[in-house]
Amino acid sequence: MFFNDISILDEDFNIRDHMYVATDDDRIVYVGDTMPRGDYGELRDGKGKLLMPAFFNAHGHSPMSLLRGYAENMKLQDWLFNKIFPFEDKLSSKSVYWGTLLTMAEGMRFGIVSHSDMYYFLDDMVRATDESGCKANISRAVTEFGDGDPWETVRLKEMKDTYERLNGAADGRINIDISIHAEYTNSLRAMQAVADYCNQVGGLMHVHVSETKSEHDECKAKYDKTPIRLLSDIGAFDSKALAAHCVWVEDEDMDIIKAKNVSVASNPISNMKLASGVCNVPELLRRGINVAIGTDSVASNNSLNFFEEMKVFAMASKMYYKDPTAVTPKEALYAATRAGAIAQGREDAGLLKEGFKADLIMIDVNQPNMFPVHDMLNNLVYSASGTDVVMTMSDGKVIYENGEYKTIDIEKTIYMAQEVTADILRQL
Ligand SMILES: [Zn+2]
Repeated sequence: MFFNDISILDEDFNIRDHMYVATDDDRIVYVGDTMPRGDYGELRDGKGKLLMPAFFNAHGHSPMSLLRGYAENMKLQDWLFNKIFPFEDKLSSKSVYWGTLLTMAEGMRFGIVSHSDMYYFLDDMVRATDESGCKANISRAVTEFGDGDPWETVRLKEMKDTYERLNGAADGRINIDISIHAEYTNSLRAMQAVADYCNQVGGLMHVHVSETKSEHDECKAKYDKTPIRLLSDIGAFDSKALAAHCVWVEDEDMDIIKAKNVSVASNPISNMKLASGVCNVPELLRRGINVAIGTDSVASNNSLNFFEEMKVFAMASKMYYKDPTAVTPKEALYAATRAGAIAQGREDAGLLKEGFKADLIMIDVNQPNMFPVHDMLNNLVYSASGTDVVMTMSDGKVIYENGEYKTIDIEKTIYMAQEVTADILRQL
């Protein structure tokens, strides 16, 4: 594909106008200010448009789209134990498939091309993600709730089995990550077993860490260590790792995160909605830690509008420090794209750069909310909306364009998502 005379967010996260970009197969093959020679197939006119790297959502639970708006204004424990867990208990292979497909549709509509996704019924998540043309790092989270809980024969076994069968599937669009769900949902032996497996296969560990103050404090009371210290001590960060939330991490935790090269997925909207707290993003960035952005599930968000997420990511940091200079638009755009790709172990993605994966979105910047243009970076982070995305490309393939879902039967997906949800509600 060939983009003619278009504005771009370049590899240094600066805006350049009147550029030419070409893709071939799954790669970006040309970025320049002169027309390239050669035939690159289909043409997209760049007038009034901006091309940038697609979004990499570094933390979510796709099938939970079925729970959008289901339980609001509740305390976390009440929300989890009285609404979320009973609903999840009735999920099936079929409902997970349609829930995941609904998330892929919403994601591509708002410019998300890749998801770090933690849940269960992995085969159905992989099938839906593969069919959608999107990418995902999917993990079967391991939990253990006391003696007699079949964590080893069910969850750990499923995790290993899925990793062996499906890691690298769909030409590398699907990665299978390894996952300790969290310290507070596990025993030490289960966490150790997952960490050992991750190190044995050289996997990527995806784990919830220090999301709430109570979880963080209870871990210290139980082990005399913070969750980060505990996980580090059992080797959970010895291979690649992605830690979601990190709202309550302490000074020494940040030293460990940096030393172990762990990526952090900050989920500002979910953290605010559940009143969990605000992640200290500016300090993590100051220490050179890779900070990406996640939506968490739409049960606590309630959308995948990644422009909204980027804006809140920047604003949450400003509020935290009561300092309007905390987190620049450039830092927010980097976190939403390149940092997410790195967090997913996708080293050749997340930048609009020759040789990189053609994971791109085109924004309609010829809209009233985008004028005047004093600084387009400011407009992208603070004025643009997910609905300004007019094209989403994954591995060089257009999967969404101008309201058209190229890989998904959107009417059927919306219908089926409602059907499987109604079916679950009937069982409660
Ligand atoms: Zn989560």
